[in-house]
Amino acid sequence: MDMKARALTTLRIRTDLAVCEHCDSVHQRGRLAPGEAADCRVCGATLYRRSRLDVDAMLALTIAAAIVFVLANAAPIVTMQSGGVTTRGWLGSIVAAAWDSGVGPVAAIAAATVFLFPLAQLSLYLFVLSASKLDARPPGFAAAMHGLRYLRPWSMVEVFLIGILVSIVKMSSLAKVTPEAGLWGFGVLTILLTALGTFELRALWDAHDD
Ligand SMILES: [Zn+2]
Repeated sequence: MDMKARALTTLRIRTDLAVCEHCDSVHQRGRLAPGEAADCRVCGATLYRRSRLDVDAMLALTIAAAIVFVLANAAPIVTMQSGGVTTRGWLGSIVAAAWDSGVGPVAAIAAATVFLFPLAQLSLYLFVLSASKLDARPPGFAAAMHGLRYLRPWSMVEVFLIGILVSIVKMSSLAKVTPEAGLWGFGVLTILLTALGTFELRALWDAHDD
């Protein structure tokens, strides 16, 4: 390890200091209000910022999203009436029907992006946010944070939602199609996951400093 690398390591351990990425000047870290940013005194570049959403708000959003996730999966998404026969479609039954009709990969991708990835994402959010709330760094915290970073782009409830809406419009000429609670549930889930996605995860590393 050369001198510069050693110096950088020392600076990184000093969490009360912030180094400007642009001009290498060193600053004393101050406490910021949510939404505020600290600028470099020498060159004016942004040193660090504190996200507008705090841990409590994120935790509330995550719990709300978890409840909506359960409801959206438990409730039917659509009801179809054709020739006196009424069929209800849940996420699970739609994925199973897609699997049976020979489009296995599509069914698997839908199940992953609409069910598995959001479920994993919400579980990881609950874990890292509860830990931050309790000022704890349990084993697995870093792994969970990395997992969240990789998972965020892969939970695509909105793509599924658009697909369902297109199918409803297409099928409406063949059958009477009624949107059900599950569809609204996935709509709300999309909004909540998007709101959670706007939060800078990096802020959680510093949350225990507040
Ligand atoms: Zn600077």
